[in-house]
Amino acid sequence: MLFIKSSFRRARVESRETRGTYWPAGSPRRGPGATVFAVAASLLLLTGLMAPSQAGAVSAGSASACVQTGQAAGKQTSTLLTIIHVTDFHGALLPEDKDAATQRPVGGAAVVASYIKTEKSKALAQRGGEVLLVASGDMMQGSAVSNLSRGAAVISVMNELGFEACAVGNHEFDWGTGVLAERKRQAKFPFLSANIFAGEGTKQPAWVLPYTVVRKGGLKIGIIGATTEDTPVVANPKMLVGLRFDKPAAVVNRVAAKLRKEGADVIVVLSHLGGAQERDGSVTGPVAEFASELKGVDAVLDGHSHTVAAGVVNSIPVMISGSNGRRLGVMKLEVVCGAGQRSGAGSGSRAGARCTSRLVEQEVEPTYGDSLEPDKATAAVVDSYARKFAAEIDRVVGVAAADISTGRQESALGNLIADIMREAAGAEIAFTNAGGIRAGLDAGPITVGEIFRILPFDNTIVTMYLTGEQVKRALEEGTSSRGVVQVSGLKFSCRQADPAGQRVKSIALENGTPLSPSGRYLVATNDFMASGGDRYATFKEGDTILNTQILVREAAISWLDKVRQAGGQVSPPSLGRVELLQ
Ligand SMILES: [Zn+2]
Repeated sequence: MLFIKSSFRRARVESRETRGTYWPAGSPRRGPGATVFAVAASLLLLTGLMAPSQAGAVSAGSASACVQTGQAAGKQTSTLLTIIHVTDFHGALLPEDKDAATQRPVGGAAVVASYIKTEKSKALAQRGGEVLLVASGDMMQGSAVSNLSRGAAVISVMNELGFEACAVGNHEFDWGTGVLAERKRQAKFPFLSANIFAGEGTKQPAWVLPYTVVRKGGLKIGIIGATTEDTPVVANPKMLVGLRFDKPAAVVNRVAAKLRKEGADVIVVLSHLGGAQERDGSVTGPVAEFASELKGVDAVLDGHSHTVAAGVVNSIPVMISGSNGRRLGVMKLEVVCGAGQRSGAGSGSRAGARCTSRLVEQEVEPTYGDSLEPDKATAAVVDSYARKFAAEIDRVVGVAAADISTGRQESALGNLIADIMREAAGAEIAFTNAGGIRAGLDAGPITVGEIFRILPFDNTIVTMYLTGEQVKRALEEGTSSRGVVQVSGLKFSCRQADPAGQRVKSIALENGTPLSPSGRYLVATNDFMASGGDRYATFKEGDTILNTQILVREAAISWLDKVRQAGGQVSPPSLGRVELLQ
């Protein structure tokens, strides 16, 4: 069926993402068209906006009968608010992606722009139609063009398209808050998060706002941001000094109540929390927990998990719109204001409120590159940045003899990158996290652009001395049911199903010598892990910790260049460093 959750792993293997359309609980699964029709038609009948005889004429997916009723229904107005949503774009400006299921081209800023403009004009053509264009964070980090411009290229595109707000994601901190403040100045829209604080009090940093208020037609819409409280774990801690990330629900409820008091008719939350949709349609994960605690919120548009979801939690529509520009989220709310509105139904309903909202339809659609003409204005913005960095991005630094793949368990590419780090640092052992390797390496010429896609994060190599006992603890921290840390210079066996701290069973150096608990080993890792990212605690105890300031990506590029200059090609390293026990 249509509710498929994709994993949290690297974006390029989101293989089973698909359209998520809202079905009311218990309704038969007849396919999106029929069901959307059922929702729209029953809604319109309920609200008395159309006669039963007309209901049959409503075409699937169309809400054209949702009209501004004005005088006709006694000063009641109905607005069809279309929220267009992009999240976790990760700098995917160029059209270089394929949909894993269909092999059709998907994404690229100019294609996404065409989908946005098409949805926008469809929505505005409807009577009472209004559009809100928003994003849920992690928009910039992840490609050569975007990273070489420190995210400026993505913000230029978002400005061009008229984005109205963007939540702060964990990757917004990758280049430090100084760069984020620059991007804030460049952006014609605010970066939102209500739960990021500077220090102990309630003061927020200057580059973020808790909310913004926009007016659409006669509606006053409050938009509130929320950022994952896991940011200190999943972002580079050295970039977060002095920042506090509170649990978001209570903070958002406080802001929502304040905005309601100040006359907001609709409250939309842009969150960066993550979640998934189960086969029965239910939304699970942090965003579901969050939504279940919200009060007076009409819609939650979420990101972070790179998943696709379109469901309802606590009577609030919750949508997650995939990642990397492969999907566009479209949520339609009917907002009825004025006299005679019903009470007690719909998430936006409150005693004495001027308006109530009701979900008409929500859908996360693929952005196929072969079905719409790419938007010229957006392509021109992307081109201007791509040209500026073209010589560097297209530089060939090596040739891969075969595809070298990555994954959460031991992978050939993980082994290769750990080997490169170990060699660059002159260490005996190296550790790197699978989550930092964002794509596989394709057979054939390797360009700087491809290395950026594989290693988008600006992580540096850190060295330190660890005892054998500390190496074991670090391996334990890197071993869970979700995967293993990528290693070089050692072999280990583990049983991932065992309790935390007891999973690693044996450790030996590359040459087979068992690791000595009291031995002293020179270890290399990346600065993200060294400073406690992904909950690694042991690296912080290392002796003589040294940040080499060598970027992992730069180490990879110069290693590949050396192989190329020697006339060699890169082959996938063999597996066998990690033995998984059953
Ligand atoms: Zn994120």
